[in-house]
Amino acid sequence: MSFPDKQDIPHRSPVQPHELTLDAEIQFDCHAGISCFNACCKQSDIQLTPYDIIRLKERLGMQSAAFVARYTVPFEMDHHGMPGLKLATAAGSRECVFLGEAGCTVYADRPLACRYYALGKMAMRRVGGAKVENVYFVVKEVHCKGHDEPVRQTVRSYLASQGVAEYDEANREWMDIVVRKRSAGPSIGAPSARSLQLFDMCSYDIDGFRNFIEGSGFTDIFDVPEDELADMLASDTRLLAFAMRFLKQVLFGEETIPLKPGAREARATARKAAWAKRRQVELEAHRQAPEAEKILHD
Ligand code: SF4
Ligand code: SF4
Repeated sequence: MSFPDKQDIPHRSPVQPHELTLDAEIQFDCHAGISCFNACCKQSDIQLTPYDIIRLKERLGMQSAAFVARYTVPFEMDHHGMPGLKLATAAGSRECVFLGEAGCTVYADRPLACRYYALGKMAMRRVGGAKVENVYFVVKEVHCKGHDEPVRQTVRSYLASQGVAEYDEANREWMDIVVRKRSAGPSIGAPSARSLQLFDMCSYDIDGFRNFIEGSGFTDIFDVPEDELADMLASDTRLLAFAMRFLKQVLFGEETIPLKPGAREARATARKAAWAKRRQVELEAHRQAPEAEKILHD
């Protein structure tokens, strides 16, 4: 129940190797009376998206950092260490933490991967293509009997029944960033530790990002009109869209948020002054070291 990556699809994978469009027909149905009800949630492997975290932490009345600490496990999405999160499972099992006696306890706010199942989606950029394109696959796991149900429907109608559109829309820019990072050639190089930290905050800690932009340093540098800022701060979804603009600036150097005139120069001067001060402290410590050593040995 994670988003399959075509290059990672192993031999005999449950992911069926036929690319489907939105208008392709599938045979599948899932309902409370089915013999395998909740079998999928007992073997869960759910990768989380930024909008999943917003929906779940709001449902549970938690701050994003507290939600992440309690209900998720980190993993690396690529060889550069791009941070990813999966939904935690109950101790010693693969059972989802949100599975209760009567089924999913967060059903109306369940993550996108749960909504897609038993389909997988892959966002990709074709060779020579400029746009990120979505293709779909059927995921056929032995425990899932939904494929034997006599219901035929298009991929489009199945996804509509699962309320996927709102999630896809809120996560669109994030998916684009992830695909761009993945498909960037080796010349782009590995992101810095600071870029990875910012990716982590913008993707999975919306309340932390709110604190970050409310700090005085942000508006000293970035030129965001006050009313626009207030509007974003009032909604996690709008704030997420802004976080993605900020991330594009950090990761790809695009000027997606205008800088205040002279901000870059003022920042460089402040950074230089901080370095000079630090160097002075180090020199002073170095100068005093023989004195301290002498006292210790006397
Ligand atoms: S969040 Fe709900 S639907 Fe998704 S795996 Fe957990 S229990 Fe199942
Ligand atoms: S039909 Fe498949 S998706 Fe539905 S409950 Fe059974 S295992 Fe889960």
